Amino acid sequence: MTPLQTVVMAPPVGVAARDPRPGLSALDRAALERWLVDHGQPPFRARQVHDALWGGTATRPSDVTTLPRSLAAALDAGFRWSTMAEDTIVLAEGGQTEKALHRLSDGATIESVLMHYPARQGRRARHTLCISSQAGCAVGCPFCATGELGFTRDLETAEILDQIRSAVARLGQHEGAERLTNIVFMGMGEPLLNLDRVLESVSVLNDPARLGLGARHITVSTSGVVPGIRRLTALGPQFTLAISLHAARDALRDVLVPLNRRWPVAEVVAAAREHAKKTGRRISYEVTMIGGVNDTDADADAIATLLRGDLAHVNLIPMNPVAHTPWTASPMPVIEAFAARLAGVGIPVTIRRNRGQEIGAACGQLAAEHAGQPAAPAVARRRQRLEAESARALRGQRSDEPVPAGVEG
Ligand code: SAH
Ligand code: SF4
Repeated sequence: MTPLQTVVMAPPVGVAARDPRPGLSALDRAALERWLVDHGQPPFRARQVHDALWGGTATRPSDVTTLPRSLAAALDAGFRWSTMAEDTIVLAEGGQTEKALHRLSDGATIESVLMHYPARQGRRARHTLCISSQAGCAVGCPFCATGELGFTRDLETAEILDQIRSAVARLGQHEGAERLTNIVFMGMGEPLLNLDRVLESVSVLNDPARLGLGARHITVSTSGVVPGIRRLTALGPQFTLAISLHAARDALRDVLVPLNRRWPVAEVVAAAREHAKKTGRRISYEVTMIGGVNDTDADADAIATLLRGDLAHVNLIPMNPVAHTPWTASPMPVIEAFAARLAGVGIPVTIRRNRGQEIGAACGQLAAEHAGQPAAPAVARRRQRLEAESARALRGQRSDEPVPAGVEG
């Protein structure tokens, strides 16, 4: 196991109330030009500000040497250069995975994970960033550390973007000044429950004057918010859509993804199928493989029946261990047999190695560690409840638990 290394990027600032200044990175070109003109500046400075936000090493407006001092002071008074108050970086796997814990101005914490994949077999090196869309999550999937934390709040557009700027700045310091190649919304939170901000941030990422990353290089993962999927279908292709499926049987999916009690799996897949038909883009279905829970032949066959003939791809991901669950990952031979059963009926399937397991890189685990572990009796009670619920689900009985609060869409 590689020793972990912690690097504190900026001194703690210790603020509790949210900083009222808007984040500068979310301001579009036209709005920034208007603000500049109102402050007696030529509009071309918008380009200088954007260049400095998305390239270079400036950590405050006064670091940008092309800007007059008075303008730097006015920008500082009006906006936050970054909405990240403090970044703590944890390296693992010999530096191939970097997890960033970001503290926001009100003390809420979120995470992002940067994964480096070296060039191989004629493919260029890739640098993929996994980002958060909310602080915490209301959906409450029991195998997910973020779900255990509960919901704190939606992220602002700039808070989504500044996770990316932090990674871009770190990549710029690598030998050969590397560029970010892919972004996945698979960190904390349910992106389709903060869809306006997610869409705003994606349009900034697409902008050639800022990150200039094409829609094909961005993936948004949802636990199945059907109205959000339909809204995306009406908009046309914005990014690759990933659906966290985990189970094709309602009784089991009710337990694994509590949102299923509101939008059952058939409705989710119907909406995703429509999305694929209208956009011509393949849907990616994610299945977190949990030993003895959702990894049986019957589960593989249920997924095969559900997705057969669809423009779809299935990713099987061994579950990352999470303290408050009684569950662990399915053994690799079981995952391989599951994959073979899907492939046997013509469904494209890949097994994804769980990157960064060493630092708990799946979905909110570092933030959970930071928040402190729940007390032992609470963990034991929760494990017992999950065991009972999943046993009932495996017998085919649906859950009578209510839909989680805060997920009506
Ligand atoms: N809320 C969205 C996006 C964030 S979760 C969603 O659920 O799709 C991103 C992915 O991480 C999801 O597919 C989720 O199922 C997976 N995940 C969460 N906890 C995990 C764990 N302990 N092990 C493996 N994958 C996990
Ligand atoms: Fe929320 Fe996704 Fe975690 Fe479920 S898996 S609790 S939807 S972040």
